[in-house]
Amino acid sequence: MKINSTSTRKYNFKEIETKWQKIWDATGLYKAADMPKQNKYYMLVMFAYPSGDIHMGHFRNYIIGDAVARYQMMLGKEVLHPFGWDAFGLPAERAAIKRNLHPADWTRDNIRVSRETLKKTGVSFDWTREIASCNPDYYKWTQWMFVQLFKKGLAYQKTGWVNWCPEDKTVLANEQVVDGKCERCHTPVEKKELKQWYFRITDYADRLVDDLDKLPDWPENVKTMQREWIGRSTGAEIDFRIKDSQEKLSIFTTRPDTIFGVTFMAIAPESPIIGKLNLERDFRSRVEAYRKKVLLRSEIDRVSVDSEKDGVFTGKYAINPFNSEEVQLWVADYVLAGYGTGAVMAVPAHDSRDFLFAKKYDIPIKVVIHPDKNKSLDPASMKDAYTDFGVMVNSGQFNGLAGGEAIEKTTDFADKNGFGRKKINYKLHDWLISRQRYWGAPIPIIHCPKCGQVAVPEKQLPVLLPAVDSYIPKGRSPLADVAEYMNITCPKCGGKAERDPDTMDTFVCSSWYFLRYLDHKNDSEPFSREKAKAWMPIDKYIGGVTHATGHLIYFRFFQKFLKDIGWVDNDEPATVLFNHGMVYDANGEVMSKSKGNVISPIGLMENRGIDISRLGMFFTAPSEKEIYWSDDVLTGIEKFLMGKFFVITAEFDKAKSIDLKCYFNQEKLSAIDNKIYIKLNKTIKRISEDYERLQFNTAISALMEFIRDFQAEKIDNADLKNYCVVKAIQLIAPMAPHMAEEMWQICGQAGSIFKSEWPIYDKNAIAYNRVVIAIQINGKLRGQIEMDRNSSEDDILTMALGESKIKSYVDGKAIIRKIYVPNKILNLVIK
Ligand SMILES: [Zn+2]
Ligand SMILES: [Zn+2]
Repeated sequence: MKINSTSTRKYNFKEIETKWQKIWDATGLYKAADMPKQNKYYMLVMFAYPSGDIHMGHFRNYIIGDAVARYQMMLGKEVLHPFGWDAFGLPAERAAIKRNLHPADWTRDNIRVSRETLKKTGVSFDWTREIASCNPDYYKWTQWMFVQLFKKGLAYQKTGWVNWCPEDKTVLANEQVVDGKCERCHTPVEKKELKQWYFRITDYADRLVDDLDKLPDWPENVKTMQREWIGRSTGAEIDFRIKDSQEKLSIFTTRPDTIFGVTFMAIAPESPIIGKLNLERDFRSRVEAYRKKVLLRSEIDRVSVDSEKDGVFTGKYAINPFNSEEVQLWVADYVLAGYGTGAVMAVPAHDSRDFLFAKKYDIPIKVVIHPDKNKSLDPASMKDAYTDFGVMVNSGQFNGLAGGEAIEKTTDFADKNGFGRKKINYKLHDWLISRQRYWGAPIPIIHCPKCGQVAVPEKQLPVLLPAVDSYIPKGRSPLADVAEYMNITCPKCGGKAERDPDTMDTFVCSSWYFLRYLDHKNDSEPFSREKAKAWMPIDKYIGGVTHATGHLIYFRFFQKFLKDIGWVDNDEPATVLFNHGMVYDANGEVMSKSKGNVISPIGLMENRGIDISRLGMFFTAPSEKEIYWSDDVLTGIEKFLMGKFFVITAEFDKAKSIDLKCYFNQEKLSAIDNKIYIKLNKTIKRISEDYERLQFNTAISALMEFIRDFQAEKIDNADLKNYCVVKAIQLIAPMAPHMAEEMWQICGQAGSIFKSEWPIYDKNAIAYNRVVIAIQINGKLRGQIEMDRNSSEDDILTMALGESKIKSYVDGKAIIRKIYVPNKILNLVIK
């Protein structure tokens, strides 16, 4: 055999990888057209916080996206695969303060370093579309989005109890409070009463829940988390009058069938109604002291099943409208102002928290639901509340009703008598978007003493972030101290007015960035409608699961809003969502600088080459599973790539022409050639399916298996040999792009391999070796199974017994004889 000269040359990955990156760059391989002409594919990875250099988690995310993008390119799609920077926000600002740098300098520096690293990874980003959310030509349009929401009444200011991080000295959205702590600095969050800006995302709650059903290709866990976060429940709102007062207390309950069991009412310590109750002096001071104490605790702690509930009696009574009974009115820690109306009707017999509270304070427990007609409950011996549905008792005219009917009838009664109504309740709150921090997009609102809140006219956008003397947090926005920024004339009346000093949560910036990529230079619109029509929705969106109830709800909300005002056509921004697994070190620890266990993708790539690093990452685990990273995997991968895979180019005979679209006539192939041809087509089928499901680890295994067979057999047909070599190179190309491109060139193939057509398997070859075997039982045909030709009798029997129909005939009987006609019939004689 004539040895091709390249196979003896050592594979110089550095030289080869650099070479191809330059060529790809120069030929604009990844540059997407302005408007796609044929079938488009929008491949999106979540844009990055420029908080330092990229780490292994990023590397994993981006190479998964890259393999998808390259595979789609080879399927003939027009691929858009952009990248950018989520550049505003707290993490960058905090890091800058720590280093005594300006957040802008720190951010730009990080972007530069990360971009350089990313370019070295050879990931197929279209860098001509790069965006950074801190640039005025981007945040101009974030402010435009705010103005559109404001015009529709969906951006508004209100005073309320909000989450306050004492460390960062800013408010936080509910989505940014994790286990009662600030998501960023882990300081326990406090409650403060402040005037803040909100987006009315609750107007979209129903659509955000219902449209999840339109997303079959989103992970179930993300959809479940979103459903729970939005927390839609149907029930009744019932008004309780307060004795000797004009006030009434409206409560939401999903169990109006328990209303006759109410023995007290409880209101949240932060509820504004407390101030209106006219409490007697002793009670007032007790309630006030209690309120102060509770507000220092986190909500999570207050509602946790483990913490002991407590409260204080207000001295007031509420009147149950169903039976006119007077019940005590308490203030209790386990009631949260944010949920429902901030008050609950307490039914100790049928609610566990109410039960504990009633036991502690010796409040009566009244049973009004029995498990069924024959089974009753005795309050004296109850150890916990009975919370299931059952039959109404001690409930006047409603006695005997149960379940759905009980709920319906009690709700109707309240409705007819004017003290209640059917109601749908949500856990979701409006999205708090104003921040008292420097590094964000300024809120484009002017406060005028005459005209009230006035949006900055669109042609005056962007409202530029001013220079400040200090951006160290002190509890109010540093912008408020810049007189020349704050003082402005009102665009409506021309009188003296003031700007809003706050900036926007960075999650506002990231709620629409996927649309800016489509038209990132447009300075008269956020993006063109035509381009959005052509490129949207996102075909695959890849990122970590941590954003399930934050970003992944917000960007769906923005998409729906933009559809409502006529800017996009689709209800949903992304058809497929994929969450990749985390990357830990070999001991299962999160990689962090403080632990000193950070592995830099750049070091890896420089030592072992990009393709080896990529394949090692792919091979370690399925894309959705976590990785416990160890360099050990690279040794095996290197052996395969250099020792077994790259050398197949030596088998390629350049003198022969090659038709990649042809299929071979198997009747004319030798037995060995046929075996390889069948194996190749099975491998193509399997790897294509693996790419669709992002199962790169099994794709690599399949390729290893094929190469082993290919090298073990002596192939007679030179055309087939060439064919196998080139197809194998195509199959590995999305995962090991540099090596594949090099091999493609060595084999004399024209153009980039990523412009070549993805292999399509020969259906005949897959079926060629398959036979249909009739399964008879006592001579009667009971089923058919498809097997490889010349399978063993045992394998056929195992397969046959795996069919439930056949199994049902054989179960409990003994097989006393088997009669096998090779490749045709298996007859089982049973008794
Ligand atoms: Zn914080
Ligand atoms: Zn005015």
